[in-house]
Amino acid sequence: VPATGDPPVLVRGIAALWTGRALLRDAAVVLASGRVAWVGREADAPGDLPALDGGGCIGLPGLVDCHTHACFAGSRVDDFARRLAGATYAEILEAGGGIHHTVRETARADLGTLAGLTRARLAGMLAGGVTTVEIKSGYGLALEPERRMLQAAALAGGPARVVPTLLAHTIPVGRDRARFVDEVVDDWVPACAPFARAIDVYCDRGAFSLAEAARILAAGRAAGLAVRAHAEQVTHTGIAALAASLGASSCDHLERIDGDGVATMARAGTVAVLLPGAMLYLRDAPPPVGALRAAGVPLAVATDFNPGSSPVRDLLASATLACLGMGLSPEEALAAITVNAARAIGRPDLGRVEVGATGDLALYLPPPGEPADPRVLVQYLGGHRAFAVFVAGERVV
Ligand SMILES: [Zn+2]
Repeated sequence: VPATGDPPVLVRGIAALWTGRALLRDAAVVLASGRVAWVGREADAPGDLPALDGGGCIGLPGLVDCHTHACFAGSRVDDFARRLAGATYAEILEAGGGIHHTVRETARADLGTLAGLTRARLAGMLAGGVTTVEIKSGYGLALEPERRMLQAAALAGGPARVVPTLLAHTIPVGRDRARFVDEVVDDWVPACAPFARAIDVYCDRGAFSLAEAARILAAGRAAGLAVRAHAEQVTHTGIAALAASLGASSCDHLERIDGDGVATMARAGTVAVLLPGAMLYLRDAPPPVGALRAAGVPLAVATDFNPGSSPVRDLLASATLACLGMGLSPEEALAAITVNAARAIGRPDLGRVEVGATGDLALYLPPPGEPADPRVLVQYLGGHRAFAVFVAGERVV
């Protein structure tokens, strides 16, 4: 995304601006050279600038979806119907469905096809005010298709910003475990590190063991990647504490995290990424949000957008589900999709409207009859369209 924004633009008429940390009434923002140059009460705004009148809107930082699997090919609609008719995920896997189907279809898709699908998905997210989307690999299960996924994710960026992550997702059926982990550590990590910002591993029953995950994360960290983990989702493995002790920027899912994991995450400043879409589709129990909150672990929320366990593209709707299903307050949910989500992807310059931050801003009209109060964007379930979106100071919607 080019850091333009020249000449500076004054965005005024923001009845309620959520900055990522605080609420400002009757606010204005100056974006210049790709950054937030000024923010405050409109009455104090600098004059003589080209202006956009928000007309009494709600302003949010450009939203950050910090956990997605948005680069994939193929449809899982048949799996969805089968599950509703009573099939278990294990039965679907045995029939060649589930992740096996997505891996097959993604392997079959060339770079242009994957990039085009991903770009179309990002366009819809951007219209909802999501300016930054983290996208994981993980449907390749071999070096070449994993790298192709990362390249497709990068190609899909602009105007939305893409943050790619190398994900060691699962072990292909019939492969020798130790040899496969060697391949990830020795071949994937060095070949994919130039195309990724973070390493992520799915450590759980049916995927990587704690010891295998530790090797993969350590290799990624040694290659300069930030550390993240799909942690404590189906079973408790201890991966949250281990990843946090490696300095993980986030641990995600956490339905079955224990007290040691919570305490280690709190000490390390690791963000907890909550994924209420997966919780809903898998009919799972919520993570222990009260314990995470009490320990001071920052809470983020993401869509976990993927074709199987969370076909959810709407980040504001995910924030609503986190309130209803996990007990977040509307204010916590707003921080969870802005400032804390930015921390989870290691980009503290995003997700806030403060001087010096990257100039990402989304403006919304409240639903008809509702006040200009950012909490209504969380109260009403999804479907919010931003009427103006700025990425790095440039208007893109
Ligand atoms: Zn995931």
